[in-house]
Amino acid sequence: MATFIVLLGPPGVGKGTQARILSETSKLAHVSSGDLFRENFKNETELGKLAKSFMDKGELVPDDVTINMIRERISRPDCQAGAILDGFPRTPAQADALEKMLAEFGGEVGFVPYITAEESVLVERASGRWTCRAQGHIYHEKFNPPKQVGICDVDGSDLYQRDDDKVETVTKRIRVYLEQTTPLVEYYRKAGKLVEIDGSQAVDQVTAKLLAVLKK
Ligand code: ADP
Ligand code: ADP
Repeated sequence: MATFIVLLGPPGVGKGTQARILSETSKLAHVSSGDLFRENFKNETELGKLAKSFMDKGELVPDDVTINMIRERISRPDCQAGAILDGFPRTPAQADALEKMLAEFGGEVGFVPYITAEESVLVERASGRWTCRAQGHIYHEKFNPPKQVGICDVDGSDLYQRDDDKVETVTKRIRVYLEQTTPLVEYYRKAGKLVEIDGSQAVDQVTAKLLAVLKK
């Protein structure tokens, strides 16, 4: 059965960074809802424009459009064995929709790493984040700097700071996360799928914990 790993955790905790590493080691596709919205915006689609208006305010994009986008994404062939879901689901309605989709596709949520860190750590990480224009590779000006300032090590494209990574917007996103996404912690705990991971450690240490859980 196709196994989907749901990465749960607040904005800036390191989900995208870990998802990319896990995707390389596990060969499961990396599906990031935020990346999909940003890609749509870059390609000037209607979905992208709609999403951007919510993202800039630090609010969630409405459930129906988000669910449809993910449904289309995970029905592609590269998700046949499963995927690492980074940033989806983010509301109880999205989690219910995911269960229904997976029942239909013959997949299941395997486990749910819940990565946490204090708010000050989240703000420091998000506000120092630099993202690669071409493929969304993730850097941090202090914790994971590129070899050359402003240039992606992997593909040479330029790096930019996300509009929603300004301190005020990050703080708003953390509030939205606490209100709308934290109910999923209990949802997956009750399902026996939650694994808590301390995200305040260095990238390698967090990866080691995740890989240990994955092996089980
Ligand atoms: P999320 O997807 O949860 O928002 P990211 O993976 O994009 O988080 O990471 C947010 C920022 O923090 C990025 O600049 C990233 O380079 C940096 N980062 C990620 N994990 C760590 C870590 N364990 N220690 C220090 N910085 C990290
Ligand atoms: P982070 O990794 O820092 O949490 P993301 O890239 O996942 O940031 O999300 C950026 C923005 O994209 C969110 O603030 C929200 O507006 C939108 N978004 C991403 N995923 C979802 C989702 N599952 N439901 C609704 N909105 C989402």
